[in-house]
Order: sequence, then structure tokens, then C-alpha cells
Amino acid sequence: MTDVSACMTDRNILITGASIAGNTAAWWLGRHGFDVTVVERAPAFRDGGQNVDIRGTGREVMRRMGLEQAALDAGTGEEGTAFIDESGEPEASFVTEEIGTDGPTAEMEILRGDLARLLYDQAKDHATYRFGDSVKAIEDGEVTFESGEQARYDAIIVAEGVGSSTRELVFPGENDPRWMDLTIAYFTIPRAPDDDRMWRWYNAPGKRSVSLRPDRHGTTRAMLSIHGEAQGEQDWPVERQKAWLRDRFEDAGWETPRILAAMADTDDFYFDALRQVRMPRWSSGRVVLTGDAAWCVTPLGGVGATLAVTGGYVLASELIRHADPAAAFAAYEEAMRPMVKAGQGVPKFAPRLMHPKSDTGIALLHKALWVASKPALQKGASKLFASPPEGPDLSPYPRG
Ligand SMILES: Cc1cc2nc3c(=O)[nH]c(=O)nc-3n(C[C@H](O)[C@H](O)[C@H](O)COP(=O)(O)OP(=O)(O)OC[C@H]3O[C@@H](n4cnc5c(N)ncnc54)[C@H](O)[C@@H]3O)c2cc1C
Repeated sequence: MTDVSACMTDRNILITGASIAGNTAAWWLGRHGFDVTVVERAPAFRDGGQNVDIRGTGREVMRRMGLEQAALDAGTGEEGTAFIDESGEPEASFVTEEIGTDGPTAEMEILRGDLARLLYDQAKDHATYRFGDSVKAIEDGEVTFESGEQARYDAIIVAEGVGSSTRELVFPGENDPRWMDLTIAYFTIPRAPDDDRMWRWYNAPGKRSVSLRPDRHGTTRAMLSIHGEAQGEQDWPVERQKAWLRDRFEDAGWETPRILAAMADTDDFYFDALRQVRMPRWSSGRVVLTGDAAWCVTPLGGVGATLAVTGGYVLASELIRHADPAAAFAAYEEAMRPMVKAGQGVPKFAPRLMHPKSDTGIALLHKALWVASKPALQKGASKLFASPPEGPDLSPYPRG
């Protein structure tokens, strides 16, 4: 039930994390009269990252924020996905125009940094942003920051991504992560004359893959992934992570020497051992989790950005509707759980299938993809990659 008094609020909200989920929540809450502070650990707004896509309900949220066209205009221009052999010849191709928006390349495909920037540019007039700070302690709405500053908030929204430290502070030991046995590095490299507008995916023996994807910034986005149990590499310093990748990929073939050489010089480097965040509850007292901090599905689910935009919006809407944060958090969790559960349903064998160990395994994968890429099967095959999970009913929520 809508609590109208809540709409006239000057309630004081802290959001930690200025990325997809945090900026979305900040805009809706600031616009609806809340006093919003966003605290981001990085010293400045973080622009980096590779392709993410917005599907289904997430796209409706972008529409309600007046950002749908801007996001389409900022698209990467990727035209589809080609699985290639060592000489760069395609073994199987999926072209977006032919199979619609559910394939590996979605219609609203945008760089993570460009999406976060669109949301941030819109939100920053409705909230106070503080960079280079983070939460040190929380006691019933009373927050002490690393900077030494202290303040009291009616609600604290934690949107800090998969490795959230505030989540560990407030919900110690509650996350039961699901490790996906895949380690991925994303980084930006100079564009070469032959780089086209397809996502080119190359499999190397030893459960490795190497990808190149186009962008609209005059550069190319590279991805290295390797299947196997993580040994804590995600917590290493960047230079050690790069050395680890060099060791594992130097004999991979195709364009790998060029990619590894460029990796040495790039600052835009994101590395993660993929794991889903699995929390039995998303709130405690005045603190609530959203986005990857609450439910990271990993890039394997293909819906992380869709869920982050939707979660930020649904949470803000429930806070707008309910004066009592506990009631808002309960309604938000009830609305979002089914979508998150569906998004996390990606089977663990999917990364294994996409990273064969031997040349024979790679040949079999290419054969299967070639069959799936035939026009009669493409629509069905696209479901193998990602269909957006059904989102919550947005009809009770504000439209702008
Ligand atoms: C730099 C970067 C690059 C990425 N690249 C890719 C990619 O290439 N492909 C992909 O699929 N996904 C990528 N992701 C993850 C993707 O953005 C998320 O999966 C998804 O969009 C959910 O967003 P989110 O807002 O919940 O979390 P995130 O996008 O992870 O954002 C979390 C934010 O919180 C900040 N933060 C972390 N800890 C604290 C703290 N203690 N206090 C305050 N702030 C904190 C982080 O600096 C970050 O800005 C990237 C994330 C980042 C931050």
C-alpha cells in the first residue's frame, strides 16, 4: 500500500557504490525528495569495463528514466558473434539482426562505463557524491567513514558490487558464494585495422578463450578467460594478475601475442574469479543490499546490468512508497527474488562447455555451434545464450 506521507520526505539516505545499481537508486530517490549521499571508494567516477547488455525489465527502467535512446545511441555497435579458428576464420556466426535481441550480442549492448556514466550524469544533480571514502562501521543507522566523518541515515543502500566490504561488515559469513570455475580479465587495447564489428571468440586448448569486441571509442575490448578452480587470484595486485595471465596465455595462438603486449600498458583492467553472491536475506535493520553486492549472477548470466538497474529502481520505488524502511526492504526483496533466482540459474557446466580442454573438444564445440547457427535453429539457439528472466510487476512504481 502506498504511504503518501513518504512522498513528501526529507529522509536521509546513504548509498555506497557509484556504479549501475547505486546511481539508478540515487536518481530515483533524489528526484522524489530524498536527501541522498553517494559514497564511492574509488577516488573518482569509474569509467572502465566492457560490454554489458540491458534486456527486458531493465530496458523498461531505462525508458522510465528517459535514458533508453541515449543508451541505444551509446551502443557498442557490435553486430554479432563469430566463433573463429586460429587463423581468424569463422566456424559459426550469430548475427544480431537475424536472431533478434536474445543472442550473445543484445540489441541494447553498451560498455559498462558508458552505462554507468549515463546514470551518473543524470543522478549527480539529485544527490551529493563523495569519492575516495567508504564505510568503516555501522551501528543502527550511525555510520563512521574511513575518512573519520560520521553521520546518521534513515536507510543505507549497499551497492558495492561482488566484493562488497560493507556487506561483510553487516552480514558477516552470510554470503555462501557459488564459484563458477572461470577466471576472466577484461581490458582495453589499441584498435588494429582488421578489428571488425563482430565479437570474435577464439578457443585455445587448455580450457582457454580469447575474445575481441568492438567499441565506439576507437579502441578494442579484449577478454581472456580460463576454466578451472580459482586459487584467490581475484585478490592479487594487478601486476601479479597480469603476469599470471601472461604465463597461461603466451602459447594460446591467434591474436594473443598482440593482446598480451597491449595488456601490459593498459590501466583499464578488470579481473575476477567468477562467483555468484548468495545471500539468505538482503537487509538487516536500516541496511539493504542491491545489485551485485546482493546477488551477483556473474557475466555468465548475461543479466547483471539488467538486474542492477531493475534492483536499484525497485528498491528506490519501495522506499518512495513506504515510510518504514523495513516495510520497503521486505517489499523490495519479495519483488526481486524470483528474477534474481532465475538469473542465477545458469548451469555450472556452461563455462566448461565453452572452454574445451583439447583440440578435439574445440572441434566438437565448433560443430555444435555451426549447427546452432543455421537459420532454422538460430531462434532456439539464442535461448542457449541468454533470455532475460521475467522481472517484477512495475505497474505500482513511478514512471519518472
Ligand atoms: C570498473 C568495473 C568494470 C567492470 N567491467 C565489467 C565487464 O567488463 N563486464 C561485466 O559483465 N561486468 C563488469 N563489471 C561488473 C558490472 O558492472 C556489474 O556486474 C553489474 O553491472 C552490477 O553493477 P553494480 O552497480 O551492482 O556493481 P559494480 O558495477 O561492481 O559497482 C560497484 C561500485 O562500488 C564501488 N565500491 C566497491 N566497494 C566499495 C566500498 N566499500 N565503498 C564504496 N564504494 C565501493 C566500486 O568502486 C564500484 O564503483 C565491472 C565493474 C566495475 C566496477
